[in-house]
Amino acid sequence: EPDPTLRPEPMAEDFDRALRPQALEDFIGQAEARSNLRIFIQSARQRGEAMDHTLFHGPPGLGKTTLAQIMARELGVGFRMTSGPVLAKAGDLAAILTNLEARDVLFIDEIHRLNPAVEEVLYPALEDFELDLVIGEGPAARTVRIELQPFTLVGATTRLGLLTTPLRDRFGIPTRLQFYTVEELNEIVWRNADKLKVPAERDGAMEIARRSRGTPRIAGRLLRRVVDFAVVEGDGKITKALADNALTRLGVDHLGLDGADRRYLRLIAEAYQGGPVGIETLSAALSESRDALEEVIEPFLLQQGLIQRTPRGRMLAQGGWTHLGLAPPVARGS
Ligand code: ADP
Repeated sequence: EPDPTLRPEPMAEDFDRALRPQALEDFIGQAEARSNLRIFIQSARQRGEAMDHTLFHGPPGLGKTTLAQIMARELGVGFRMTSGPVLAKAGDLAAILTNLEARDVLFIDEIHRLNPAVEEVLYPALEDFELDLVIGEGPAARTVRIELQPFTLVGATTRLGLLTTPLRDRFGIPTRLQFYTVEELNEIVWRNADKLKVPAERDGAMEIARRSRGTPRIAGRLLRRVVDFAVVEGDGKITKALADNALTRLGVDHLGLDGADRRYLRLIAEAYQGGPVGIETLSAALSESRDALEEVIEPFLLQQGLIQRTPRGRMLAQGGWTHLGLAPPVARGS
């Protein structure tokens, strides 16, 4: 029977799913994480035990969910998926935990958004595979201890800093995912074009890779949009000229920045002379939530050296001025 607490997969993600690598071998990039996981998976298999709890952290779209699914498949166990905000009550989590089979992988996305009451239930489950449930209310209330099957929790978060220390400490395998190199993304786009049976030229795929913001999910989306242009305005084939034209019309620039990224950079440059400016001020001026700025927009701009984080706020870095085609103001306050 369907479990309402499991995250519904939106239709828009169907495309994502079709392109998802199914085995560790087909997973491109994240070489260090991959080689470590291979060892841990093999060891758990040989010992016949549940693999240690694993935490993936890093910006959205880098493959956290994909790796969790691959882990379950390679461990030869079941996979269940839910997310922090969906688990409203302790009972929601208890229902899932008591239904797990031995060594299953339970994936909790956005684990930094777990309700504290739910998190409390999780601790003994992670440490001793036990649940302490309170049954009834008032003077009749009593606690029952339920033994769980050993399982592997895989948590994913875009905000490591928002995890409580006790929760963080319970993950034996914390793994940071990095932005992908252009070469890795090129390989991903190339394989995805093949999976979609779309003819592509090498430098056409490369153009999409260069403009994907270091992120496989974005590479998948851009590929799909470029295919639309290729079908309607070209002969169906992805060439460099066609990809360039399509991406430019979509507002994706040569570094892969979109309109929201450029608004962010231009605001610091033009309204604040390059900063420093506080995150709350930026959030208000851009009408974007602070979370969206910190989770989605800033990590790539930081990684590209376009901005800097300082104790007094965000500043445009030299690369940011160059990218905007502007000159930094002459040194102030002298
Ligand atoms: P996250 O959970 O970190 O937000 P996902 O695992 O959902 O990211 O990945 C987003 C999409 O990107 C998936 O549909 C998957 O097809 C693709 N993807 C992610 N990592 C890779 C990779 N290393 N190789 C190929 N495709 C990938």
